[in-house]
This record gives sequence, structure tokens and C-alpha cells, in this order.
Amino acid sequence: MNLYCRLVLPLVFCGVVVYLPFGHAAAQPDLAELTESPVTKKPVLDLSSPAERFNALNSLVRDGKIGRVAARSELKRLLAELRGEYYRKGGIDFLKDTWVFPLAGYDARAMGGGRNKGYIASGYDFFSGNRHGGHPSFDIFIHDRNQDCLDDRSGKPVRVLSLTGGIVVALEREWQQGSGLRGGKYIWIFDPTNDLLVYYAHNSELFVKLGEIIKPGDQLAIVGRSGYNAEKRRSPSHLHLTVLRVRDGLPLPVNVYRELAKAGTGTER
Ligand SMILES: [Zn+2]
Repeated sequence: MNLYCRLVLPLVFCGVVVYLPFGHAAAQPDLAELTESPVTKKPVLDLSSPAERFNALNSLVRDGKIGRVAARSELKRLLAELRGEYYRKGGIDFLKDTWVFPLAGYDARAMGGGRNKGYIASGYDFFSGNRHGGHPSFDIFIHDRNQDCLDDRSGKPVRVLSLTGGIVVALEREWQQGSGLRGGKYIWIFDPTNDLLVYYAHNSELFVKLGEIIKPGDQLAIVGRSGYNAEKRRSPSHLHLTVLRVRDGLPLPVNVYRELAKAGTGTER
């Protein structure tokens, strides 16, 4: 067995990404975004901002391409960086009493799901990505009987507003019909004041970019029907909202129904 077989092949079988000496990338090239080169110890792909790196990490988690231990330590490290970035870029603390209901022209009465409002935390694990269980989330429905994503009352699109302050840390705008991706065109915002990750899914169009600083009530998107289940006829048009509190790199669901019921309306902002 030559040196190549003894040193490089075991790394490939262990799931470590290695660039072969003949210019061929090994399987799982996406992992290269976060792993060091085994030779130089430098990041294989040097993404410029912490938000871009968080977005890359989130995509790896979403697509089941990174283990939970590695993902958790990377997530903890990146959120510390993003906290610094938020305040450096002029972000200020927004306490819960400044929060804004995330759909313009709507309030908590638009939240479906009966007594628990569809919120099921058990079975949820952030690190299972696109295959996670539970529904630690609220679906907030718009008036859209013909499913054209226009409000039946106004004939206009419905604006998705930021519930909290924070920094945009992940997003997906390339979703296409027929994709298996459940969130469709989504946005994740990190709120350093309250240690929250807030997720807005199924949008039709996004209006923010990675690293952008956000205040409560800022427009993030327009309500859509993007996502594996959300695009189906049986799904009424809605915003899917998830709030996770991060402790030591572990994001866990929090039920913010009370905060949503009290939140201001952002109609005029
Ligand atoms: Zn939902």
C-alpha cells in the first residue's frame, strides 16, 4: 500500500473532505466550506463574513452534511462572532415589549392550530435539519382563498415584518417548485439581546441580505407558498415562524405565543 492509500483514503472514508492530489474533489464538497485543509490547516473556503459562514453552516445542518457535535461547537463560535458584529454595526438592544407582530395588517387572531396554536416542541432537534420532527412553530394565515398570495381584502401582497431586532444570519432565495426543502424561501435572524434565532419560512420574495441589521417591524419578505408542503394545494397560505433560544450552542424552542399576542402591529412602519 502506498502512502496515498494509507494516509488519504482513510480520511475519505471517515467523511473528511480531502482534495486529491490530482485535482479531483472528494465526495461531499460542501463540507469543505467549514473544514480545514488537512495539509495547510487553513479554511478550505474562506468566507468573508460571520453571517456568510453561519449561512454555510446552516445549509450543512439543513442538508444533513455535518454531525451535531461539530455543528454545535461551530454554531456557538459563530454566534459569539455575530453578536460582536451586531453591536459593531450599530445594532442596539430591543426588549420584548418593542416586538412587532410579523405580518403587516394581521394580529394573533390569524394564528391557527386550536388551543396550542399548532405549537409542538417535542421531537424537535435543530441539528436534524430538514428532517426535524415536531412543529415548535406558529403558522400565521393570511386571507388568500385563491392561493395567489395576495390578501383577499386588499388585493396586495402581505409584508413579513421582523418580530425582533437582530442580524440576518441565514437565508434561502433559490428555492424552486418541486424541491424537497420544507422551509422554501426562508430567513433566519439572530437576536443577540434575547439569544434567539428566529425563522421565517415559505416566503415568496426576500428583501434582506446576509449580515443586515434589523429592527422590530422592518420588512423582511412577502408571504408566499414556497416549501415542500407549503406549495401544495391543501396548505393555506401562511407564514411559518419558529423561535429558538440558544444556550451554549444548543438552539431549543421557545413558545412566544404570549409575546405575539401582545406584540404591536407594524402596519404603518
Ligand atoms: Zn408551520
